[in-house]
Amino acid sequence: MSNIFELATPGVQGLQPYQPGKPIEELEREYGIKNAIKLASNENPLGINPAVVHSLQDINRYPDGNGFVLKKALAHKHGVNMDMITLGNGSNDILELIARAFVSSTHSIIFSEHAFAVYPIVTQAIGATAIVTPAKNWGHDLNAMKAAINDNTRLIFIANPNNPTGTWVDKATLKEFLETVPVLVVVDEAYFEYAIENPDYPNSLNWITDYPNLIVTRTFSKAYGLAGLRVGYSISHPDVANILNRVRQPFNVNSIALAVATASLNETEYLSKSIALNRAGLQQLMTAFEKMGLSYIPSLGNFLAVDVNDGAKIYEALLREGVIVRPIGGGYGMPRHLRVTVGLPSENDAFLQALRKVL
Ligand SMILES: *Cc1c(COP(=O)(O)O)cnc(C)c1O
Repeated sequence: MSNIFELATPGVQGLQPYQPGKPIEELEREYGIKNAIKLASNENPLGINPAVVHSLQDINRYPDGNGFVLKKALAHKHGVNMDMITLGNGSNDILELIARAFVSSTHSIIFSEHAFAVYPIVTQAIGATAIVTPAKNWGHDLNAMKAAINDNTRLIFIANPNNPTGTWVDKATLKEFLETVPVLVVVDEAYFEYAIENPDYPNSLNWITDYPNLIVTRTFSKAYGLAGLRVGYSISHPDVANILNRVRQPFNVNSIALAVATASLNETEYLSKSIALNRAGLQQLMTAFEKMGLSYIPSLGNFLAVDVNDGAKIYEALLREGVIVRPIGGGYGMPRHLRVTVGLPSENDAFLQALRKVL
């Protein structure tokens, strides 16, 4: 057994690990900088809501592997049956469960150019074929995605809105797509709570009983401000949920995450505050970009992709100013852009000031 690397499956050998945003502590350690700000991972800048942090109990016990209380609360909130809900260790967990359960190495998965980086990773990890359709105005081209379906296609990933572009698919287009597409369609709504402000943005859950091949994923990581806890979920036909339940780890969502996520569903004030802060922050950034003559992609998320000509270079220069954003050249194929997460007004200001300086 001379080369362990060669024992891995071909897909896994070719994988590049997901590249997360640079942690604040790492920047401060490496560059000797203090008080750095991070606008690199679409996290909620409000911090945790103190009202939901009362749940550090009973961690000597295993969690409820079925997540009854959280599922019941979600079912009530969304007006669906509990047997349609699958909980995940973040919605990333769900995306991977879906691929593992329904797709094998002889099958293909369709997603768009510039789409969320997790789609190519899960596809390659299971040895399936990725069919990447060209983007249209940076967004998903659903006609191209439909045309790309072949006999081996099992799954289509649609991020709505998409990360890192912030682009979205409107109601009529998505409905028409679902009406005709014969394979499983995952509509990844990680930014739903921000996006639903736009009247043209579809809440796919409205169609969940019409299309048994539709799987909607949501998360507590963004507007609910719980990225570090790792809780996400899908809503689907009960048969899909039944299949996912067979492949998930028995205790894939931990007890603290279950308790805090459940409590956070009642915290409507924190949620509205997050959404309002995001709306104002997007406006603040867009106004400044326009003044600076920088073009950006209109976004329904909590982030903007802005064209700075040379993303890698400006990313590095911003790090030296103590500001972490996300370069999206490599995996996302957008070398001219940077993705910046909406922060607190003061963080947005600090970012803009640093950006003016380094440009
Ligand atoms: C952030 C994000 C997720 C959510 O990830 P979690 O695992 O729930 O933290 C899913 N999809 C997209 C497109 C995202 O940007």
